Amino acid sequence: MNFELNQDQINIRDHLNELLKDVCTPQYAQECDEQQKPPREAFDALAKNGWLGIIGPEEYGGAGGSPLDLAVMLDVLGYHFEELGLWVFRNLTYGCHAIMKHGTQAQKDLIVPKVIKGELSVCFGLTEPDSGSDASALTTKAIQDGDDYIINGRKVYTSGMDISDYCILVTRTKSLEKKQQGITNFFIDTKLPGIEVKKLATLGQRAIGTTEVFYNEVRTPASSILGELDQGWRGADNYLCYERLCLSAARTGAARAAYEFALEHAKTRIQFGKPIGKFQAVSHKLAEMRMMLDIAQTMVYRYAWLVEHGKDTRQDAAVLKLYTSESYKSIADMSLQILGGYGYCMEYPLQRFFRDSRLATIGGGTSEIQKNIIASSLGL
Ligand SMILES: Cc1cc2nc3c(=O)[nH]c(=O)nc-3n(C[C@H](O)[C@H](O)[C@H](O)COP(=O)(O)OP(=O)(O)OC[C@H]3O[C@@H](n4cnc5c(N)ncnc54)[C@H](O)[C@@H]3O)c2cc1C
Repeated sequence: MNFELNQDQINIRDHLNELLKDVCTPQYAQECDEQQKPPREAFDALAKNGWLGIIGPEEYGGAGGSPLDLAVMLDVLGYHFEELGLWVFRNLTYGCHAIMKHGTQAQKDLIVPKVIKGELSVCFGLTEPDSGSDASALTTKAIQDGDDYIINGRKVYTSGMDISDYCILVTRTKSLEKKQQGITNFFIDTKLPGIEVKKLATLGQRAIGTTEVFYNEVRTPASSILGELDQGWRGADNYLCYERLCLSAARTGAARAAYEFALEHAKTRIQFGKPIGKFQAVSHKLAEMRMMLDIAQTMVYRYAWLVEHGKDTRQDAAVLKLYTSESYKSIADMSLQILGGYGYCMEYPLQRFFRDSRLATIGGGTSEIQKNIIASSLGL
């Protein structure tokens, strides 16, 4: 196992930093958050410079990169603006990884080249009002009607649905004894008649945020099924594990940005005649954060290596998600504390990291559920 970045990965990191320091400044990230506007200009700049093709197959115009290449990229995006990283991760996980893994030739041809060019966006609709952690208990129904399926139900927290062209929608096509059976994934057009999208007000993630979606007699062709009929749970679970790599990478980058802001403040803020970083209570917080960042980054690289070599397990993904989420939450909290009153003011970015990081231990499977997954493999 080699965690050292190769020259190509160092180039990915350096070139992206160079681009984003101009097109995704801290002021721009703050504006997007305050005005609740998606970072479209930064997203378009990534597309224009070919970055959205990082894991796309070469025959579709992509770079054919590895999961580690993607992790390096999402770390940089998360460092500059977490929600930009999350937008890109959703497109690449659901519009590229999932389609390349389970899509038909027609679906691949239709979607992947456009995702690579940044011409369309894709989101994921799994969670429902009555099935969150118990995700496979979902009840949104898809019933066959000739060559089509009719979908009825309600999803919550479909992030980015209002800016997406397609959604991977997880539905129930059969009620069987085991709730994981009888589930089918559809790759649906988000503008189909009968779909109503309502934006939800949230603590953080305000630039893109999340939505509630109502499906009322939505007709979609059978050709929009992604993967096998009634066997969709395995696909959804695979996408969630890939998602955990992407979220962990982007959030480790965001955690580093919060840490660096606090470190700089600790060097320059004078109290009692010296920089506050000279006080052990402050310097120990920074030392702890530095340690957590090192561990988180190593874990991201390790898991990316496992995925690339086909050795990853659900438990590995859960260990990764649990640690990187909890450490991001702690780092954002400690960084805010180091800024004192400035940390609490909307003018400074620490409040945004604090709000955004709070989702890390909830979205994509809560920390409690990650612990359940890990514990289930311990032979207890
Ligand atoms: C901003 C935001 C964006 C999101 N984006 C998406 C998205 O794009 N697509 C999507 O499909 N979903 C998305 N989600 C949904 C997210 O994954 C769920 O919120 C999460 O899985 C938890 O489900 P829940 O909110 O229903 O909480 P619940 O399942 O009701 O859990 C409530 C509490 O009980 C605990 N709990 C529940 N069961 C157990 C158990 N067995 N053992 C121990 N503790 C347990 C949980 O850990 C939690 O602390 C998003 C959520 C948010 C808030």
